[in-house]
Amino acid sequence: MIHLTDIHKSYNLNTNPLHVLKGINLSIAEGELVAIMGASGSGKSTMLNILGILDEADSGTYTLDNTPIVKLNETKAAQYRNKFLGFVFQSFNLISYKTALENVSLPLYYQGLPRKERQKKAKEQLTKVGLGERTHHVPSELSGGEKQRVAIARALVTEPMVLLADEPTGALDTKTSYELMALLQEINDQGKTIVVITHESDIANMCKRIVYLRDGVIVEDKKIKQKKAKDYVE
Ligand code: ADP
Ligand code: MG
Repeated sequence: MIHLTDIHKSYNLNTNPLHVLKGINLSIAEGELVAIMGASGSGKSTMLNILGILDEADSGTYTLDNTPIVKLNETKAAQYRNKFLGFVFQSFNLISYKTALENVSLPLYYQGLPRKERQKKAKEQLTKVGLGERTHHVPSELSGGEKQRVAIARALVTEPMVLLADEPTGALDTKTSYELMALLQEINDQGKTIVVITHESDIANMCKRIVYLRDGVIVEDKKIKQKKAKDYVE
């Protein structure tokens, strides 16, 4: 479903280019739950930004669901992001003055769905992440774990093929992190392809495959026996 071939990316700071991704080759099939691990600065977010069509590689190829992702204008890129991808970030990125229901409805507004339908789908999605009773709360009235559940509901409401999560547990305590991983595992068990960036090995071990990045190169890529997050929650 995802194919990256010989991806290179540099940032140009003043005159010195910083070579961040140095020939990334990675394929991800439907239904995988992949952790991308690596130290801070190893290029994880840069790679996720390319996967998420938020940034473009300098060279190499990227295909997503057999669609070549190349030289897209912003309108087309936004259209592909909306169609293929859901995003979850460490800092939740919810709109502070909107309720959980409104936050989750927003992507459907951009898709042009009528209000009634937006609210119905958003409500269903919030119920799936265990927040059916919290739909009218604004983010400041929710805990960190609840905020991230809202963010996951927002990412999934458009039924994307792939969920991309950049350090989704980075702002959460250990117990809440494992509860969140239990939710991601449940979503993956229902067939969703998920890519999780993390620098915590306990989180990575709850995925089905770990890709290790060091200084912009994949140094190891292995399938693992997944640890069930539920076993660590109670
Ligand atoms: P990670 O997510 O693994 O911590 P990043 O992909 O964010 O790593 O960053 C890799 C390197 O690229 C770091 O040295 C970072 O400072 C640099 N970098 C990231 N984004 C930019 C940018 N927009 N402009 C310049 N340098 C950047
Ligand atoms: Mg990062």
